[in-house]
Amino acid sequence: MTREQELLSRIPTGLYIDGAWRDSASGNRFDVVDPATEQVLARVADATPEDGEAALAAADAAQRGWAATAPRERAEVLRRAFELVTARADDFALAMTLEMGKPLAEARGEVAYGAEFLRWFSEEAVRISGRYATAPDGVNRLLVVKRPVGPSLFITPWNFPLAMATRKIAPAIAAGCTMVLKPAALTPLTALLLTGVLEEAGLPAGVLNVIPTTRAGAVTGPLIKDARLRKLSFTGSTEVGRRLIADSADQVLRVSMELGGNAPFLVFEDADIPAAVDGAVLAKMRNGGEACVAANRFLVHESVAAAFTAAFAERIAGFRVGRGTEHGVTMGPLVDAATRDKVESLVQGAVADGATVAVGGSRVDGAGYFYQPTVLTGVPAGARILGEEIFGPVAPITTFRTDEEAIRLANATEFGLVAFAYTQNLDRGLRLAEELDTGMLGLNAGVVSNPAAPFGGVKQSGLGREGGFEGIEEYLETRYVGIADPFASRKA
Ligand code: NAP
Repeated sequence: MTREQELLSRIPTGLYIDGAWRDSASGNRFDVVDPATEQVLARVADATPEDGEAALAAADAAQRGWAATAPRERAEVLRRAFELVTARADDFALAMTLEMGKPLAEARGEVAYGAEFLRWFSEEAVRISGRYATAPDGVNRLLVVKRPVGPSLFITPWNFPLAMATRKIAPAIAAGCTMVLKPAALTPLTALLLTGVLEEAGLPAGVLNVIPTTRAGAVTGPLIKDARLRKLSFTGSTEVGRRLIADSADQVLRVSMELGGNAPFLVFEDADIPAAVDGAVLAKMRNGGEACVAANRFLVHESVAAAFTAAFAERIAGFRVGRGTEHGVTMGPLVDAATRDKVESLVQGAVADGATVAVGGSRVDGAGYFYQPTVLTGVPAGARILGEEIFGPVAPITTFRTDEEAIRLANATEFGLVAFAYTQNLDRGLRLAEELDTGMLGLNAGVVSNPAAPFGGVKQSGLGREGGFEGIEEYLETRYVGIADPFASRKA
């Protein structure tokens, strides 16, 4: 048995409801495919609406008891889960490489990042507090306490199969919420492996219920309309997110939305060019460009455009494309044929509009959904590739002349997740921090994700924040108790 087969034989493939692994009500299963080979890796139970209902019923039944557990107990479950994921980093990394395609080294990076949410929120679980205050009239008292929101539905994407799950599960556990998780159908194996770890770490039955399905809307739709559900946290495309916000209105559900991006990467005339190139490679090519925070548009001051482009293109040409399990591979496949075809059509459209291919520019023939790392120059304003999320290893470069023009171009999008800017001028950096309409800014940094930081977007990139001190607030309600003069009886 190969190492891959051995791991796959240990990953559960059922639904996890009320602390038990089970088949779906229909008995149906669906294929999970390796995007590098197009071969089937596993067949996973395909949840039905009936299974979804059972998952929510279990979460609802467990809610009261879970909310009453000692914060320290919830913290210890998370801490044990952190230790277990870390100890099994090789398993998690390989599972992600197999089902999603990213190279093993990057998958290991995601294991460290994803596990850190478990540790961070284990530390936050015991720091949930309220306040007691004297009202301004000096007579009455105000008591403010935090309560768990209640049963929550999580819908996660395929691009970071571990971290997008732990970024929601960990704060919910810390806050005392129960959950139903629907992972992306393309990548359920990592979520199922994580579920086994949380069970082993002592998470009680019913607190986390996991329902992979190929019928996302049919299974989650009724849950969103069910009065037992109190919260929806979604990470995925803006298109689906908009629809889920509308569906959540009926019940006035608390919603957290981590949606799409169109990140500008700004290089000013005073930038440290080698540092900007390092940052650009990370911001663009990490995860094969399949990241909501991936740099989507490179805006480079015209005086440094030639130097930046030459050095950047040289680095991109050095990528080695292949199956992520192979030694030395630095760029895996895209996740499926549709994603690869979209990237191809965006590049063809940009070239038809007048852009020049500096590096790459085409799909890789043969099995697997591979696309060459690509740099495009002279991309004209208005090209489709500048307005849409590329979600692939393609870097379109355009130029600007003034700071005002750079900021105007950067903000000319309905998205507002993240921007990256390279400048050595402190005042300019601070002005950008105030004038760019994004939830996050990487200042001389090509990666901003950090479990201790509030991750999230403005405009159509989302609502709410994940990670940091803010992350747990998404799972807490504020309850206020008004107290009449406690000294009244003494005064009488
Ligand atoms: P997607 O198509 O919106 O899918 C995301 C999740 O929603 C998947 O689990 C999907 O299930 C589910 N889904 C699809 N249609 C649904 C429906 N009608 N009702 C309920 N659930 C539904 O996005 P994706 O292609 O997987 O992920 C890429 C997108 O995620 C990009 O736009 C990216 O920017 C965004 N993203 C954002 C962040 C962030 O933090 N802001 C992080 C990562 C990714 P199935 O896949 O099983 O159909």
